[in-house]
Amino acid sequence: MSGPVASSDVLNELRAALAPHGVFLRGTVSFADGEPAPVLTNGQAARTIVLMGNIGGSIWPAFERWRKGLPDRGGDNPLDLWSKTVITPVARQLGATAYFPSDPPFQPFQQWAMRAEGLKASPLGILIHPDYGLWHGYRGALGFDRHLVADTSVSQSHPCDHCLDKPCLSTCPANAILAAGFQVMPCRTHLKSLVGQAGCMQTGCIARNACPAGSTYRYSAQQLRFHMDALGL
Ligand code: SF4
Ligand code: SF4
Repeated sequence: MSGPVASSDVLNELRAALAPHGVFLRGTVSFADGEPAPVLTNGQAARTIVLMGNIGGSIWPAFERWRKGLPDRGGDNPLDLWSKTVITPVARQLGATAYFPSDPPFQPFQQWAMRAEGLKASPLGILIHPDYGLWHGYRGALGFDRHLVADTSVSQSHPCDHCLDKPCLSTCPANAILAAGFQVMPCRTHLKSLVGQAGCMQTGCIARNACPAGSTYRYSAQQLRFHMDALGL
């Protein structure tokens, strides 16, 4: 087995291909011999996965442009379809295997992100980033048959540890966010109510909006509304 090698050419090509779409290379995870790893299209275990995603609303302009050009505006799951439209050709170009959070067999994107970027979960269940707060996401990953190491940073700091007021715990109108974790049912029940339809469904999650971490990366009102509508409630 070969050890980690400088991989700037492949990763620079990847960055260049993703940049017009507002998608960023977020980090890499390398797998040791015998360690559980996703399967490549050639049947072998991947040596590395490269995580890709949005930082703040970075993907929104490209996504909206693409969507406006389609008669059905991208169908039932436009963001998943757009992610595949962007990432699949890049995978082909680089001889990699593409994985998507929406596709079975479901891959451990959250664990990969924790390893690649050193992130931890917030009380909302979403991974929180020291710079981008709760305003980021993962759109896909590419699997390679060799070790690649990105020069991205691995966080040593968890914003929630330094957040004294913890407004996410006190602002949810359904008390769905507890220190012990996010409670799905109270949230969904509230969102279906008249108050929820006029509140979170219009503005985005009130508790997420109250988080002070990475607030300059907060999604636009239009994007927040899109994500709430995507819940299909
Ligand atoms: S409000 Fe504070 S505790 Fe809650 S997610 Fe944001 S940083 Fe973490
Ligand atoms: S969407 Fe609204 S009800 Fe659900 S967790 Fe966020 S603030 Fe609470």
